[in-house]
Amino acid sequence: MRCVLCEKLSFKAICKPCVGRLLSENKKSRILDNKLKVYSFFGYSSIAPILHVKHHFWGHRVLNQIAKQTFGKFAERFSFKDKVAAIGIDDVPQSGYSHTAILAKALKSPSIIPVYRALRATNNVKYSGQSYDFRRKHPRDFSVSLKGFSHAILVDDVITSGLTLKEASECLKKEGVNVLFALTLADAKE
Ligand SMILES: [Zn+2]
Repeated sequence: MRCVLCEKLSFKAICKPCVGRLLSENKKSRILDNKLKVYSFFGYSSIAPILHVKHHFWGHRVLNQIAKQTFGKFAERFSFKDKVAAIGIDDVPQSGYSHTAILAKALKSPSIIPVYRALRATNNVKYSGQSYDFRRKHPRDFSVSLKGFSHAILVDDVITSGLTLKEASECLKKEGVNVLFALTLADAKE
């Protein structure tokens, strides 16, 4: 099989040199205007091929490999006084698997518990390719279903405008949940 990123022969979905190159990238962070901190592992262009693998089985494996090496390693070093829910944005499977569910799952640790479908967009408008103004005028209207947690980490594959993460964190706050920060695989602002 071939590495998804460089197309050289590889036993894993992403070959060792590509993993090394990816992991040496500087992490990025942003603070949204509602004070939510967002940490991203990569720039979007470095991992775009990973997010666009079309074959379900293969796409799942590729994302799993990179999620373990980023979200997984993060979770190993993270500890908190209380149980924290890891909540993926839009973790409803599309074409067989959900990016954010795989990322949230990789955070599983003694302190972090992935909770699936805790946030559901009641407005399924597609943001991809839309302007900031369009996104701002069409909120996702998340409904929250989370029991037994007062702390959460939000998880998404890519941060673009940050509007979705901001809206999600506001919805959780309204339900009395403290959002510690958000983690995304990639930041589209490079
Ligand atoms: Zn490679």
